[in-house]
Amino acid sequence: MRFTVLTIFPDLFQAFWEHGIIRRAILNNRIVAEVLNIRDFAEGRHRVTDDTPYGGGPGMVMKPEPLAAAIRGAKTDRPEAKTILLTPQGRVLDQGLARDLAGFSDLILVCGRYEGVDERICDNFIDFEISIGDYVLTGGELAAMVVMEAVTRLIPGTLGGEDSAEKDSFSNDLLEHAHYTKPREFEGEGVPEVLVSGHHEAIEKWRQEMSLIRTFLKRRDLLEDRTLSKKEVDILKKWCLDIEKIIRGQSIRGTDALSGDEQGR
Ligand code: SAM
Repeated sequence: MRFTVLTIFPDLFQAFWEHGIIRRAILNNRIVAEVLNIRDFAEGRHRVTDDTPYGGGPGMVMKPEPLAAAIRGAKTDRPEAKTILLTPQGRVLDQGLARDLAGFSDLILVCGRYEGVDERICDNFIDFEISIGDYVLTGGELAAMVVMEAVTRLIPGTLGGEDSAEKDSFSNDLLEHAHYTKPREFEGEGVPEVLVSGHHEAIEKWRQEMSLIRTFLKRRDLLEDRTLSKKEVDILKKWCLDIEKIIRGQSIRGTDALSGDEQGR
């Protein structure tokens, strides 16, 4: 996979490529990452990349000529490269979209600044508009890093453990189970017994159950959009029965109708 980032702040990417998974992926030739300064494609002594908006209003807009020249420059010899504009108005990135992007071999990431880019660039030079969430950043650089990292993790051979990406949250429309590490006891809290039992089957079962239950508790919307297997339905049913048992126990004690506030009065 080749990533080419177009930005007016290329230095922002140096530290990003020199650490962690991106660095390893570059060293292992899984990805090629390069950055082009849009300013280098601007004309004139001052290499201006922005101008005032037609129609008036606050802020500046990124001029079309330097952007068009930068995109054309990036596409020289690589006409098949897909061009992505990072914009809060784009499709919101999720694991499915990251997976689709990982299927391409060449991505050009265009980082906007100011009020954004001249619309004629969006209309004629961009294949996909991508947002990293419903909030507004000052520039597309952080968003480009997010896209690069999410996509790179999905390229086979980029992660330490071969199958870690498969088990990550969202890979199966479920959140991942909880993790624990040493010490076995931390500030009075232990770790679930099953995890130190050495029974691999039991551990796997616990992880599957936790993954499903956490998804129900934290992101129920994911389950609503998903077809559950019979096994998963059985896990949730058992869990509901356990909760019912607790509620029934409370009823018998006569405490179920009392809210915390009422009990305190
Ligand atoms: N005026 C624009 C609007 O309201 O849609 C926002 C421009 S924003 C201040 C400047 C640049 O930051 C954008 O052109 C885009 O490249 C980037 N950006 C901001 N928020 C983003 C987001 N949520 N996802 C991706 N890129 C974003």
